[in-house]
Amino acid sequence: MSRRILIAANWKMNGSFAVNTSLLQAINGIQIPLIIAPPSLYIASVRQQLVGTTLKVAAQNVAAEAQQGAYTGEVSAKMLADAGVSYAIIGHSERRQYYGETDALVAQKCQRLHEFGLTPIICVGESLAEREAGLVQTVVERQLTAIIDQCGIYALAQAVVAYEPVWAIGTGKTATPADAQAVHQFLRELVAKYDKNIAENLYILYGGSVKADNAASLFAMPDIDGALVGGASLVAKDFLAICHAA
Ligand code: PEP
Repeated sequence: MSRRILIAANWKMNGSFAVNTSLLQAINGIQIPLIIAPPSLYIASVRQQLVGTTLKVAAQNVAAEAQQGAYTGEVSAKMLADAGVSYAIIGHSERRQYYGETDALVAQKCQRLHEFGLTPIICVGESLAEREAGLVQTVVERQLTAIIDQCGIYALAQAVVAYEPVWAIGTGKTATPADAQAVHQFLRELVAKYDKNIAENLYILYGGSVKADNAASLFAMPDIDGALVGGASLVAKDFLAICHAA
């Protein structure tokens, strides 16, 4: 097994040219594999500031459409590739919740990224009601299987999965390391039913109120390969502390 710890920062709809620059200056000495997902307007500027570092840039979203055209407000996978972007977050629960993104749409987005050689960061996770109803495995299996059915298992050879329980995102509540590990193990075993090698090499990140004081215990779990960090990625000292826990 050659997986290390990978950390991705989801800046969501936060930042400005000035704020981004000072944040990047504070974190750009970090030596672990790190991905920064700024709002799309700032991707080019962030990427330019990361030249010469090992940090990579991600988009927070991508269009599902296969062809360019009259899709106001959308950014295609081809454009992201043109801009030197190597990753894109898809299926984030905020997109599913606020913009009505379905499993089928997320799978189409994955397909577009695959076509242009970008690595998807595929978010899956259950709501609180689904957890309380005992549906955690059912939900994450449905979400990931939609991707496999659309894109094929080999697409996961160039993909990252992020398990993000919806009830833990931005709430200050975190899954216990043991609870998160159980879901990560379930996801890896699901992928292994198709291809053991892909499963073994697949990075599965945890997301949901990761902070300096819970990062190390999450990263100690055998199937937790890092974190997708929202709120804490906007505060340099908090983010650095998470990275140092890796
Ligand atoms: C996220 O938005 O992906 C996330 C995990 O947010 P937070 O860390 O703020 O819970």
